[in-house]
Amino acid sequence: MDIKKEIESRFEDMTAVRRHIHRYPELSFQEKKTKTYIYDQIKNLPLEIKRDVGGNGLSARLQVSDDYKTVALRADFDALAIQEENDVEYKSEFDGVMHACGHDAHTAMLITTAKILCEHRDTLPVNVVFIFQHAEEQLPGGAKSMVEAGVLEDVNYVYGIHVSSKYPVGTLGYTYGYKHASADQFTFNVIGRGGHGAEPHQAIDPVVASASLVQQLQTIVSRTVDPLKSAVVTASMFNAGSAFNIIPTKAEVTGTVRTFGKSVQEQVMSRMEGIRKGIEDSFNLKCELDYVKGYPAVLNTDAQVDLLLEATSGGTDFITDFEEAETSMGGEDFAYYLEEIPGAFFNIGTKNETLGTDYPHHHPKFNIDEEGMKAGVESYLRLITGFREV
Ligand code: MN
Repeated sequence: MDIKKEIESRFEDMTAVRRHIHRYPELSFQEKKTKTYIYDQIKNLPLEIKRDVGGNGLSARLQVSDDYKTVALRADFDALAIQEENDVEYKSEFDGVMHACGHDAHTAMLITTAKILCEHRDTLPVNVVFIFQHAEEQLPGGAKSMVEAGVLEDVNYVYGIHVSSKYPVGTLGYTYGYKHASADQFTFNVIGRGGHGAEPHQAIDPVVASASLVQQLQTIVSRTVDPLKSAVVTASMFNAGSAFNIIPTKAEVTGTVRTFGKSVQEQVMSRMEGIRKGIEDSFNLKCELDYVKGYPAVLNTDAQVDLLLEATSGGTDFITDFEEAETSMGGEDFAYYLEEIPGAFFNIGTKNETLGTDYPHHHPKFNIDEEGMKAGVESYLRLITGFREV
């Protein structure tokens, strides 16, 4: 397969697909038009397509041989509740909704990869499952329900790309070990007894108790978690009170916990529970804790990162640079696939300062240099054509 020629000849089509998805963004769990558009793009290919997998997701199997292993490639396709501020002809048509994370590009790259691989199906050393996943941006995440619906049945390995405005066009960012942290949310409701600000002895002040609570939360990472492991505990919202002379009845403290691996996560949760009890006892009030687990941490498999690098490093067309990408404290529901089977999640650069595509993800001016998508498709094609058992 002449990879360069294949990608060049489909670049216009890929860009059109990306711009169409960008123009009509849909929020997580509401991707009705997008899922139909994806289906229309792939319905005439020699694929076994399943629709509405675990919600709005689709999966499409390219079966080459029953004797071969199967590799899944995943793209997500939901957008965010952000008002787009880019002045482009394909600007979002929907007020307050925008593809500000690059999922439009993920989907365009995967559709293009499917079109190319289907043309060369007889030469492939492996079966391929294309996973088009809804709802990455919102809990409980589309990946979880797609896995529960069996999207990984008869799949041996899984790979996924996230475009990145941190890396220039042509850069492939790889990570051994943890690629993303788990992202949990907590809320403490501290319920005392309201009263007059001048008579604190008649009240039970939830503000003072909550101030102590926030301080104690700082000791979880500094005094409990192994310094060689990582965790974040951030109390980011503190709400209480309505006037200068009123002791309020309740206060609310909300925040996030980021960890790598279940053991640190459980340690943090158990210390939080201990602090909650301690606040109740020492301040003689009620303290409730609501802890919501987000996506688990994304843990890449070493052998699959090795294979990715091996397949893409032997002379490439659009991939010009390899960089060890930082582990991100942001969450990604790709974690659910990697909990089931080996694989790797990696970055493809879309930064171009001249075009202004260096805004961070989830910014109203986030955009990509579409040239970067070529390296994304190339990495998929080289991975599949260069696949071997490791
Ligand atoms: Mn994303």
